[in-house]
Amino acid sequence: MISLNEEQRIILNTVKQISREKIKPRAAEIDETGEFPWDTAKLFVENGILNPLLPEQYGGIGAGYLLFSLILEEIAKVCASSALLLIAQADGMLPILCGGTEALKDKYLPQLAEGKIAAFAATEPGAGSDILSMRTQAVKKGSDYFLNGRKCFITNGSIAHVLSVYAYTDRDKKSKGISAFVVEKGSPGFGYGKNENKMGMRGSINSELIFEDLRIPEENRIGREGDGFPNMMEALNTSRLFAASQAVGIAQGAIDEAVAYANQRVQFGAPISRLQAIQFMAADMVAQTEAARLLTYQAARYFDTNQKSQIGKFCAMAKFLATDTAMKVTTDAVQMMGGYGYMKEFPVERMMRDAKLTQIYTGTNQIMRMVAAREIFK
Ligand SMILES: Cc1cc2nc3c(=O)[nH]c(=O)nc-3n(C[C@H](O)[C@H](O)[C@H](O)COP(=O)(O)OP(=O)(O)OC[C@H]3O[C@@H](n4cnc5c(N)ncnc54)[C@H](O)[C@@H]3O)c2cc1C
Repeated sequence: MISLNEEQRIILNTVKQISREKIKPRAAEIDETGEFPWDTAKLFVENGILNPLLPEQYGGIGAGYLLFSLILEEIAKVCASSALLLIAQADGMLPILCGGTEALKDKYLPQLAEGKIAAFAATEPGAGSDILSMRTQAVKKGSDYFLNGRKCFITNGSIAHVLSVYAYTDRDKKSKGISAFVVEKGSPGFGYGKNENKMGMRGSINSELIFEDLRIPEENRIGREGDGFPNMMEALNTSRLFAASQAVGIAQGAIDEAVAYANQRVQFGAPISRLQAIQFMAADMVAQTEAARLLTYQAARYFDTNQKSQIGKFCAMAKFLATDTAMKVTTDAVQMMGGYGYMKEFPVERMMRDAKLTQIYTGTNQIMRMVAAREIFK
């Protein structure tokens, strides 16, 4: 169905191996403690995949979007939080790669392959789906900007070294008045609020960011003044593809667990996998996951072949189909495993909690349907 070259096959096999041997055994502990898995980040650096989309000149491996999707899927099968680590890293990096000057790319991108952590900061307490109602503002004085405002829910927020941050430079211009900036951890005027306590995906950190007269040199603006909104949308499209890939991985991971369990759980004198009720549930789970997988790969191919007119619609459709599928499949996996599925001793309850987030972040599935419908009826 997909043809990979020799190098891509080697990369993917390595990812499969580290997922099985190193990431899977850590998944329950990461979920339990809610701590950022620095050891996993180090493992990704050692294997050259902390930022696989980065071109080689910046220290990456120049993976295409399909290969990155496959990498995310493999990791999410065993630990969705670890896949989110890579997604957040790409989300924070892509605004710079897509819109930054050569000097900005040279300064920040190599660090993001070497172990420095990135974040993407758009959402605010009063601006989620309605992102244009953001209040964060960057006012220019001389050759510097001064940033004031607050962001929330930001993945990697309080641990990130390099953040792509969106702010109004001219509120009257609405979407044409937003600009993007690179902000560094430790800058004077950059503070943190709380880290959130979440239902799932607990191995990632989500933070409030507080900017008080934070000085940003002009050269840290990404692109021209007013270019922030298209830059944000470009990053969000990719992020929707990544969420879809992650969701396909979560669904597949739950299927693998539930099928193995059903084959060995004996009730009424035979494995429950012999029961038609269980078989039909499994058939639906697998068919729905395969359909989501194919749509997700198609969206990735549109990126790799630069078919811009298809990207927005297919990323939105893949995102809502794959993440709704992950929610349904993980819930069914818990059901298939009965009481044991509900216990933390087995991973499917974690997968169900993790799946819920994929329906919400990087644009809710209601908003994804609106994006797709807009394209369909235009
Ligand atoms: C764990 C987590 C990690 C996140 N990471 C990041 C990050 O790294 N960077 C970042 O910038 N943001 C991040 N976000 C923010 C995320 O993208 C937003 O939560 C999401 O876009 C929804 O915004 P909201 O939570 O304010 O919900 P709201 O926009 O308030 O939506 C509430 C409900 O109303 C519905 N709704 C809203 N508007 C409409 C409409 N016009 N039509 C139909 N239904 C509508 C929504 O679908 C939803 O069901 C993260 C969020 C979470 C929970």
